[in-house]
Amino acid sequence: MFSSKASFRGGTHITAQKKLTSGLPIIEMEAPPYIYLPLSMHIGAPAKPIVAAGDNVKLGQLVAKASGFVSANIHASVSGKVERIERRYLPNGGITECLVIRNDGLDTFSDEIDSSGSLENLTAEKIRSLLQEKGIVGMGGAAFPTHVKYAPPKDGPGIDTVIINGIECEPFVTADHRVLLEKPKEVIRGLKYFLLASGAARGVIAIEDNKPDAISLLTELTENESNIEVVTCQEKYPQGSEKQLIYAVTGRIVPERALPASVGVIVDNVSTAVQTALAVETGLPCYERVLTVNGDAVARPGNYLVRIGSLYSDVVTLACGGTKAHVAKILCGGPMMGFAVSSLEYSVIKGTTGILLFSPDSGAAEYSPEQTCVRCGRCLEVCPMFLQPTVIAKAVKRKKWYDAVNADISACIECGCCSYSCPAHIPLVQYIRMGKQFIMTDGSGGFNPLYSG
Ligand code: SF4
Ligand code: SF4
Repeated sequence: MFSSKASFRGGTHITAQKKLTSGLPIIEMEAPPYIYLPLSMHIGAPAKPIVAAGDNVKLGQLVAKASGFVSANIHASVSGKVERIERRYLPNGGITECLVIRNDGLDTFSDEIDSSGSLENLTAEKIRSLLQEKGIVGMGGAAFPTHVKYAPPKDGPGIDTVIINGIECEPFVTADHRVLLEKPKEVIRGLKYFLLASGAARGVIAIEDNKPDAISLLTELTENESNIEVVTCQEKYPQGSEKQLIYAVTGRIVPERALPASVGVIVDNVSTAVQTALAVETGLPCYERVLTVNGDAVARPGNYLVRIGSLYSDVVTLACGGTKAHVAKILCGGPMMGFAVSSLEYSVIKGTTGILLFSPDSGAAEYSPEQTCVRCGRCLEVCPMFLQPTVIAKAVKRKKWYDAVNADISACIECGCCSYSCPAHIPLVQYIRMGKQFIMTDGSGGFNPLYSG
């Protein structure tokens, strides 16, 4: 029932816009002269720096340590000197301490990198500790520390399925597609390490049906793997969202505020699988990633292997040959779930899947003023979480925080289907995001006293 064209209820069909870069092989970008490593580039507590201004560092050296269980180590992505620690903005509007490292151009690897581990003696415990030690986080955008997923509660149901998420349903972004085509064996080996770490019996590589080349390649490479299968999912947004993907592949519903482990599943992105294979087999930490640079204002759109901490401006200049038109809109990530930013002075972090630059002539940069709700109900039809986006947005606009909570604002996965489908151009998801920021206070779940009631 769920094996041929798996899907979910709700969601919407959007133009993929991937043709420009999906056929372009990954190109390694030269390391930039300076690297800016935000200490909060993952979900959870910021990492704590263990180097200071003036220290020399080597490539792959641990420079900031996870400051709790839900946190992640950060490693130098070049060799060179720490110039300073400064505060910088993140694309989501947050602000964080940031290590600024001057690249010495030598790429001298750290002695901390130990590649001597034997694969024959590999244990679940060893893989789990490598995930933590090497700073591996979800590279599909969420940046949730991967080791936390592999430490599910002891009283839970246990994990029986690991899904590798090769959906990549955001328009314009093609990095995962290229990783599937160019690193398929590493994706499969990464999945095998995840199966060992979790004890799961079933491994699934889920790919949307708009990537037939990746589906046939991975199917061919796994035909003799008795516990691994490729599942083709219907092209529909947000098929790559964790809860929708789990439903499509297994038919299980993850309860609200629960993790996928509560239904016996772990989901990891394709690049996370590759990074895990690298960590296990070579001892390398997460210091670079593949991302897509796309949009009509980019001189050479493509898929690039980029050092973590590179500025967007360096990526656009060094990898893409600069811009070819005035830039009217910059997006970090895809147009549905990404963040619009005002400059290119942001860092590539472990969760950066794409950078999109649009000219004023592009439809993507068009601004349509918000109009009055015409009560068409389209936002309700497309919401994959079965919420009432218009009710939540109205509550946020009126600062009726209790009404927003009662309408289940926290269940929103911020997919943007509602805003995309709204004929009145009401930025529903932006209101919902804003509401969540006001309502939630640093994990306490309390209300912002300035706006209560
Ligand atoms: S309310 Fe949230 S989950 Fe529902 S469509 Fe809008 S953004 Fe997506
Ligand atoms: S889609 Fe827009 S216009 Fe239609 S009901 Fe929802 S908010 Fe109103």
